[in-house]
Amino acid sequence: MVSTVDLYYICQMVDGVTREPGTYLRNVEDIFGDMSSSSLVRKYPKWTCFHVFIEELISSVIFEDAKNFSSRPGNYWIDHMLRSNRIGQLTVRRPEFCQFDGYDYLDALQQEDLIAELCETVSKQVFHVLFANRGTMSAFGHMVSGYVLHTSPSFIPEAFNNTGHLTRASIPAWAKSAVFHRDKGRCVLCQTDLTKLFSQQSQIHYDHIMPLALGGMNCVTNLQLTCSNCNLDKGARSAATSREYEAWYDY
Ligand SMILES: [Zn+2]
Repeated sequence: MVSTVDLYYICQMVDGVTREPGTYLRNVEDIFGDMSSSSLVRKYPKWTCFHVFIEELISSVIFEDAKNFSSRPGNYWIDHMLRSNRIGQLTVRRPEFCQFDGYDYLDALQQEDLIAELCETVSKQVFHVLFANRGTMSAFGHMVSGYVLHTSPSFIPEAFNNTGHLTRASIPAWAKSAVFHRDKGRCVLCQTDLTKLFSQQSQIHYDHIMPLALGGMNCVTNLQLTCSNCNLDKGARSAATSREYEAWYDY
């Protein structure tokens, strides 16, 4: 596993771009614009659009870092990341000709699929951290909602209803389980215990943080746990979530 420092560095970067895509918008456009937006309307993919987004950001940092290869030979972020994730250590040695050209070296790594493997591995780790943060999930939903709304229904007609919004897909058990455990069985808005150990009257709702009518996705990143009352109050036009972190135990 990547070190805590590296992991949180990437998490902070991903979170920052998600909340303020401004300067990064052209890359977001590359990832989700045009034809690529059809990936946003798939029903509950396990490898979510957020995983893809994280992979793209990691890859852009790797290529950005390659500019500095000649000024500090032997001290490359990519080597450090490959080492700490135990990827390709036995097969790849940096060839002589790559000594001063970072892009040649990255090419060699790419031919062995090592960059893709690294991006996938680290993406899972970053997802593990940021999925716990509903604020980040909400910001991501906001960021891509425009692309969802502008996806032409002709790509995947069955994914849309006649008002041009995504139809509500049934939520697979693995997604419910992930959200239930993340939110620790409590309504994220009023903290009611929904485990039914203490309360019989409240029903569990898997609420879309960003409503489908506003460009929300059928995606595990767009779900949160709410009770019936809060679900009713929130309605279909609000993207409310809470900043509450559920503690592992009471203090
Ligand atoms: Zn509630």
